[in-house]
Amino acid sequence: LLDPTGRPGVTIFEEITGLANDHRAINLGQGFPDSEGPEEIKKIAIDAIQNGANQYAPGSGTPSLREAIVAHQERFYSLNLDPESEVVVSTGATEAIAASLLAFLEPDDEVVTFEPYYDSYAAMIGLANAVHKVVQLKAPKFEPDMDDLRRAVTDKTRVIVVNNPHNPTGTVLDISVLQEIISLAHQHNCIIIADEVYEHLTFGIRHVPIASLPGGFERTITISSAGKSFSFTGWKVGWATGPRELITAVRTVKQFLTYSSGPAFQPAVAQALNLPDAFFERFAAGLGQQGEILASGLEQAGIPVIRPKGTYFLVADVRSFDLNDAAEVARKMPERVGVAAIPMSAFVHPENQQDYQGLLRFAFCKKREVIADAVEHLRLLPK
Ligand code: PMP
Ligand code: GLN
Repeated sequence: LLDPTGRPGVTIFEEITGLANDHRAINLGQGFPDSEGPEEIKKIAIDAIQNGANQYAPGSGTPSLREAIVAHQERFYSLNLDPESEVVVSTGATEAIAASLLAFLEPDDEVVTFEPYYDSYAAMIGLANAVHKVVQLKAPKFEPDMDDLRRAVTDKTRVIVVNNPHNPTGTVLDISVLQEIISLAHQHNCIIIADEVYEHLTFGIRHVPIASLPGGFERTITISSAGKSFSFTGWKVGWATGPRELITAVRTVKQFLTYSSGPAFQPAVAQALNLPDAFFERFAAGLGQQGEILASGLEQAGIPVIRPKGTYFLVADVRSFDLNDAAEVARKMPERVGVAAIPMSAFVHPENQQDYQGLLRFAFCKKREVIADAVEHLRLLPK
C-alpha cells in the first residue's frame, strides 16, 4: 500500500480524478455515472431520513432489503435464497469483498484472480498476508487460457475471485470458463468469490451468475452493488449472497468492519431491486449506445479500441503515441487534451506491466454529449 518512494499510496482512481479536477478535464477515468438513479428511488431515501431511519440498521441489513435481494435473484436467475441466513448487506461491494477475503484467508494461502484485476482485491489479499496469483486476460480478446487457469489453481489455493462482467477489460467470461472454475474449486477444495457488480450492465448477452451453474452455489459468495445497477455509487449499498456457512463467515467479519450500513438507503435500494425488467433493459441498452459512441469516436480519432461485452468501461490502445506508455499518457492527458482515463497497468502485477503497457481504460457511463465532447478532445492526442 506504499508507493515506490515509500509514501502511503492513493488509489489510481483518486490520483486520476485529482488530475482531472486540477485541469478541469472530462473525467472518463473513475467509473461513476454523471446521471443519477430514478427520482422515485431517491425520494424513498429522503422520506426514510425524515421518518427516523437514522440509527444503526440491523447488522445483516434491513429485512425489506434482504427480501428484495432474494426476490431479485429468483426473478433473474431462478436462485432461491433464505433472506435470514443467505444474504448480508454491506457498505458497498468493497466491504463485501474485504469481509469475504478476510474471513477465509490465512497467511500464505493463495488467491487466484484474473489479471488485470480490480484494485481492492490486491490490497485485501495483501492485508491478509496471502499470496496473489494471476491468470492473464490478454488483449484483444481478454479470454483466459484454460491451461493457465488449470495451472494457477492448486491445493494451496483457498479462494478464486471471479469478476464477471470484468472491470477493467469489459469482457464477459464464457460459460465454459465458469464451469472449469467450479470444477477446479471442487477439485482443490477452494471457495469462489464472484464479484458480479456489473450483472445488469451487459450488451446483448444475459448475465449468468457462476452460482447458478451446477455445483456453483455451494462454494460461491456472490457480491453485487446498488452503485452500478442503479447509478448510486455514493450510497455504498452492496450485498453478498450464498450458502449459510459462507455468509455466516462474511457477516462475522463484517460486524467488525462497519457493523452496519446506511439505514435510509436500504429501503430505497429494496424498491430499486423491484423495478420492472424494462428498467434494467433500458439502462443497459442506453449504456451500450454510449459505449458505441465512444468506441466509434475513438476509432475515428485513430485510436484502436476493444469493444466491451459488459461493464461501463472500454479499453483503447494508445501505443502509437509519443509518450512511453499508457500510464504516462494517462497522467499527461488531463492537462494536454482535457480528458482523463485510467492506465491498465494500474490493475496488474508490477512484473507484468509491460503486457498491458499501451492500454487505457475509458469509462462511458457519461452523457452522450460529454462523450462526444471527450472524443473531440482526444483527436488532439499526438500520434
Ligand atoms: N468490484 C468491482 C469490479 C468494481 O468495479 C467496483 C466499483 N468500481 C466495486 C467492486 C466496488 O463497488 P462499491 O462501490 O459498491 O463498493
Ligand atoms: N469502481 C470504480 C472504477 O473502477 C472506482 C471505485 C473507486 O474509486 N474505488 O472506476
